[in-house]
Amino acid sequence: MSVAFFAGSFDPFTVGHKSIVDRALPHFERIVVGVGFNVRKPGSREDAARRASHISRLYAGDDRVEAVSYSGLTTDAAKSHGADVLLRGVRSCSDFEYERGMADVNRRIGGMETMLIFALPEYDSISSSMVRELEAFGADTTPFVP
Ligand code: ADP
Repeated sequence: MSVAFFAGSFDPFTVGHKSIVDRALPHFERIVVGVGFNVRKPGSREDAARRASHISRLYAGDDRVEAVSYSGLTTDAAKSHGADVLLRGVRSCSDFEYERGMADVNRRIGGMETMLIFALPEYDSISSSMVRELEAFGADTTPFVP
């Protein structure tokens, strides 16, 4: 069985992201959630590490899921964590086009395939940017974050 690397910004990790991990889990030996950060952005490394430890805590009882932070090429990070396939979620046609481009690049430069899981209809309008926007206006975001 394959080990999957689920890369993203996860800023924040939403119920939509969690649903992708949970639904993918029966199909993989392990899933590594990779929180990407940009070394050129100040504070980005610390923020990503904090998000990764939050995700790890959500899966504290399940050693098939671990969360790490990384910078650089996703395929390099995936391989360094023992993953052989990339996992991503798709909510819409625009996600699909974006994911197709990313999957193509990651196959070419890293020789890795990407497996896609479609969002559940009840989660397909949930995005991290929407949650951040709600937070900025002081709205309750608890239904959207696990
Ligand atoms: P990135 O910044 O790399 O696009 P995100 O953290 O926004 O990363 O998303 C990571 C992955 O999760 C992407 O494949 C994205 O399409 C998917 N995703 C985001 N929100 C949802 C959702 N509500 N349901 C299913 N998949 C989602």
